[in-house]
Formats: sequence, structure tokens, C-alpha cells
Amino acid sequence: MTLINAAKIRKFLENLPYPAHCIHCQGIDEKAENPVHHPSYEVTPSCNLRCIFCYSRIAELKGAAPKPGYYGSLNPKAITISQYGEPFVVGTERVVKIIRKLRERFGEVRIDIQTNGTLLDPEILGNEADIVMISLDAGSRESYVEIAGRDYFKKVVENIRRMSEQTYTAVRTVFMPGVNDYELERIAEIASIAEELFLQPISIYRENTELMRRLDVERAESLGEYIKTAYRLSEIAEVRIPGCLLLNMRWFLKEYDVGDLLLVRRDAFGSMPIMQRDWQFSFD
Ligand code: SF4
Repeated sequence: MTLINAAKIRKFLENLPYPAHCIHCQGIDEKAENPVHHPSYEVTPSCNLRCIFCYSRIAELKGAAPKPGYYGSLNPKAITISQYGEPFVVGTERVVKIIRKLRERFGEVRIDIQTNGTLLDPEILGNEADIVMISLDAGSRESYVEIAGRDYFKKVVENIRRMSEQTYTAVRTVFMPGVNDYELERIAEIASIAEELFLQPISIYRENTELMRRLDVERAESLGEYIKTAYRLSEIAEVRIPGCLLLNMRWFLKEYDVGDLLLVRRDAFGSMPIMQRDWQFSFD
């Protein structure tokens, strides 16, 4: 990398806004000692897809999937629906009811939905949620089927477009070198109509055998590969990096050079995706 590129990447990391979803999360609170993700309402651990990288399926396999209900502080500023499973498996009307009940109970609160975008009905969801994060990990129908296990590419692209017209929409893409890196530009083009392209570094679970077979682990663990990809895609879409990761990178850059940051390897392997907050209640 030339000096000029290193300077550009430093500037990129210094100026990049936090993702809207990360605002109010302890992950971007410099003073939080053991930061946890902001509260979530888990609708169901079930999902209609079979994504090759899914941590929720691993949690289910190991009997660790959280039961439905609300997890975390009873004084929330933001609530995520849901961190596990696909919420719209229960139907869009039911999710809208949950959103309304959460607002009744907590008043001023931001509601973020994480979804695979295949089952939601944009007509019914409208602008009920403040942020809708739709997963898209492939840039073509063929690789979508290979990665997600079902043929919903066109439907998801259409729902990204329709939700972007109604509310703050982020496209969430897992960076998987060897699996989807050759299609990231195409994904970024699709995401350019949304407010954000949230580029998620991969967490690897050995039980995801198809991912293990295809992933270039060396590159998946390289922070340099990840940062340079985010920088490149930022010319196409409004790229965002997970807030807690960005905060740590900025800390690193206070002491070290950007060239050192690009050489850092992260341990991408996880053993068990565990819910870190306590169950509080459920609307059922
Ligand atoms: S990516 Fe990090 S900072 Fe953002 S919501 Fe998740 S835990 Fe919080």
C-alpha cells in the first residue's frame, strides 16, 4: 500500500459515522467496562433460510437459542427485533403488534428490526420500525441460493427497494472471503438505494461445515482485508463498520500507525453464540 492510500484509509476510519443501529449501544460507549448489546425482543429462534454462516442455527443445535421474549435493561433507548431467528416467520402483522406493544410499554424508544427480508410485507410494516436491517450476502440469484439455501434473491432486492422508500433501511452483508467477496461490488450497488451498507466481519463456527469448506480463513481473519474492502465499497454505498469494532480501531490508531492496524489478525472463531442479557418478559 502506498503512503497516500494509508492516509486515505486513516481518514476514512476517522470520519466514518457509526451505524444508526449502534447508537445507544454500550459497544460504542468508551466508558463501558463490559459492554453488552442493547436490549432485544426475540420473536422466534426459527428461520426459513439455511445460511451457511448462521450463528442462530448453531445456538439452536446446541440448545442455547433464547426463548421468545424481551432481554436486557428495562430502561431502553433502542430495542432490536431480533438477534436470533427470523422475526417475520410469525407474520408481519404479529411483528407490528410487538412493535406497538414495545412502544406502549417503553415510550420513546428506537426499534430496529434484523431480518433476512424474505417474508416481510413492506405494505404492512410501513414505517412502524425506525431501522430495518435486511441481510443480503450475495449479488446474484445463483450465489444467493448457495449461501442462503433458498431462492429469494429477487424478493430480497425488491424488499430492500420498497423498505428504503418507507423507513431507514440498512443492508447487512457478512464479509466472507472466498464465498462472496467477488460479488461485494454488486451488493453495494443494490445497497446504494438504502441508507447504509453494514459490512459485518464473519464469525466462524466449526459446525457450519459448508462455510468451513469454502471460506478463506486467512483473509477472513485479516483486519487489513476487511478495512480495505470497506474502504473500496464506500465509493459505491454508505458503508458502515460495526460500532464496537470501529471504536477499537480508533483506539488502536491513537497509539499505532494505520499500516500496523492493517496487519492485525482477529480471531474469527466462536464456540457458542450466547445471549448475554437476562430474559425479562414476553407478550405471549
Ligand atoms: S455492532 Fe457492536 S456497537 Fe453496534 S449494536 Fe452490535 S454490539 Fe453494539
